[in-house]
Amino acid sequence: EPGTGLVDRVLTAALRSIEENEAELGRLDAVAADGDHGLGMTRGMRAAVVAARRNERTVSEALLAAGTAFADAAGGASGALYGVLLAETGAGLRALAAEEITTAALADAVDGAVRAFTELGKAEPGDKTMLDAIEPFRAELRERAGADVVEAWRKAARAAVTAAENTAHLLPAKGRAARLAQRSKGHPDPGAVSFSLLVTAVGEELG
Ligand code: ADP
Ligand code: MG
Ligand code: MG
Repeated sequence: EPGTGLVDRVLTAALRSIEENEAELGRLDAVAADGDHGLGMTRGMRAAVVAARRNERTVSEALLAAGTAFADAAGGASGALYGVLLAETGAGLRALAAEEITTAALADAVDGAVRAFTELGKAEPGDKTMLDAIEPFRAELRERAGADVVEAWRKAARAAVTAAENTAHLLPAKGRAARLAQRSKGHPDPGAVSFSLLVTAVGEELG
């Protein structure tokens, strides 16, 4: 059972959603790549939850620990990339207590995390990667920086879901799937789908 820490709670909710969709994420990754995305995500999220639970003095520390644990446990391209996204969001929130986190502060932290993510992965919008769900999420959160955190997060999560579905129309230019790009036509990118599941579950837990 999750503890009382905010990061523990939201990551546990996200883990549940990933577990429920593990087979589907694997199937999507097998369309044009190696089929391990579901397994990698459950391994990574389980480790992230344990690490957050042990380090929740601040939201920032918990996310930093979760990101490092995720990268170590998940492996693969997405392991390192999600690791950076979690850890850099944590770094951006610095010493803020959970109740001090405004939408603007969260939007700043996510901006910084997406910059670090892009520096590592070098993907561009339209390359059919998780960035194609992450960038609309980031932009929507920024757009709603004056709104209530839960409302802004949920709107941003909805933008990520739509964007992940729309990756079905793209051809992969980065990652393993780029080699068999044509096969992926008509199927969404697994990383974009896992990202949309994560942020949706977090939004529901925040409410
Ligand atoms: P691996 O490809 O190492 O087996 P996963 O299957 O866990 O790793 O993750 C695949 C996902 O990682 C892709 O669907 C894509 O969303 C994401 N991805 C791969 N390479 C990159 C990259 N360079 N930039 C952004 N995202 C990437
Ligand atoms: Mg894979
Ligand atoms: Mg792999």
